[in-house]
Amino acid sequence: MEYFELAIIGAGPGGYVAAIRAAQLGIKTALIERDEVGGTCLNRGCIPTKTMAHTAELYAELSHAAPLGIQFGSAAVDYDALRARVVEVRDSLKDGVEALVNANGVTLLRGTATIAGLGSIAVSSPDGAIRELSADHLIIATGSAPSMPPIAGIGEAGVLTSDDLLETVPELDRLVIVGGGVIGMEFAGIYTALGAEVTVLEAAARILPTMDREFGQSLAMTAKKRGCAIVANALVEAIERTADGTLSVRYSAKSGEFRADTDAVLIATGRTPATGGLFSGGFELELERGRIAVDEHMRTSVEGVFAIGDVAAAGAQLAHAASAQGIAAVETIAGQSSSFDPLLVPSCVYSSPEIACVGMTEAEAKEAGIAVRTGKFAMAGNGKSVITGQDRSFAKIVADEEGRIIGAQLMCGRATDMIGELAVAVANGLTIEQMGSAIRPHPTFEEAIGEALEALGSGAVHAM
Ligand code: FAD
Repeated sequence: MEYFELAIIGAGPGGYVAAIRAAQLGIKTALIERDEVGGTCLNRGCIPTKTMAHTAELYAELSHAAPLGIQFGSAAVDYDALRARVVEVRDSLKDGVEALVNANGVTLLRGTATIAGLGSIAVSSPDGAIRELSADHLIIATGSAPSMPPIAGIGEAGVLTSDDLLETVPELDRLVIVGGGVIGMEFAGIYTALGAEVTVLEAAARILPTMDREFGQSLAMTAKKRGCAIVANALVEAIERTADGTLSVRYSAKSGEFRADTDAVLIATGRTPATGGLFSGGFELELERGRIAVDEHMRTSVEGVFAIGDVAAAGAQLAHAASAQGIAAVETIAGQSSSFDPLLVPSCVYSSPEIACVGMTEAEAKEAGIAVRTGKFAMAGNGKSVITGQDRSFAKIVADEEGRIIGAQLMCGRATDMIGELAVAVANGLTIEQMGSAIRPHPTFEEAIGEALEALGSGAVHAM
């Protein structure tokens, strides 16, 4: 039996960040991983999708570059090179994570962990050997996996999860995406930009149903303009292979029954927490809709056991949330006062234009009984947006009665980079005046933040 002060199961952005912070605090730490370090984010999520998105965006821009003053034959996508690029980016970042884990003195154990209790964690190595560990504390960071809805024909060849699609990076002329949430809409943007005919089938009344209404409405309009079909209130009835071998999705929508022929179907209907086979010998934790229930310090129902990231019931399933939760858990273990606040987590959609938000929307604040003012700026008046041809973009800032910034919603070029400034404001209760005192450079997308702040006070300069 090997002893560690802390054992962490799962080396995704939750687990590996927690392990490094624990080692920095002098805690003897084991990090157990059954697959690759970096987890979903690095291997099957954030990084490969954004690598594909970067190529897709460049291709779309170059394909319509004549009005920008660029003339050349015709652009073409080389899928072999794109696949190699996805692997190259992933592997270079993975090597970096592994080097950091080792350099900090974390013991990285390869294998699948099962938990019978704090004193009994078994790690089955790929070679069949079993190592027994005991630990004073345990952090469960096992993440999540794509969930498959009970649709007839879901097992047909050509029906893919995001894992499958990122593994193979298939060249597609037609793609049907079941689910218009963040993951579905990111792939819709990628494949539309790569030139495929994309149809998104969303069961709710609009895409991005969990985000601010204006995001879903605006993204639907820009996506349609680019040639992506979006069907809201769509109920997928079956996925079928017709007699001539065509893959086809049968669905009903408000106006009747339809069929969409396609080369592949991406199922993007959510993710299931990865707890299967994790617990043994009667060991149990309280769950909340399948995810492990935690408090603001990431403590579970069993003393000494913490859960972080996608597997924990702690708000949005995002990489930076998992990392922040990992740090809160480790610092709590080290006796520091540290906690996690889901309201401070920015949420991003890497669509075109990008979407990013933090804190409360106007509607959420009103629902919580908070009197608010909002400042909104339409990017049509922003020089950088006009230069780069961004559609239907806006910046919206929500402040409480005392003028403290409590939320922001951006839809514009570089929104996912810009939201950091507003996350600092929300985290620190900065006021309109404090944020407005900064001079933002021209011409930048950032100027829109200054204009939205001015709209909260004396009025935006570049708005009618
Ligand atoms: P994971 O990253 O899932 O890592 C869990 C690890 O635990 C895995 O490596 C797994 O092998 C290991 N494991 C599981 N069970 C065991 C066991 N019993 N023993 C040993 N090891 C085990 N988030 C963003 O913030 N930005 C994005 O742009 C973004 N894009 C995404 C795109 C896609 C297509 C997907 C699917 C997700 C995306 N996400 C994004 C979400 C993000 O990837 C996850 O929120 C994040 O990876 C969760 O981190 P985690 O550490 O909780 O779990």
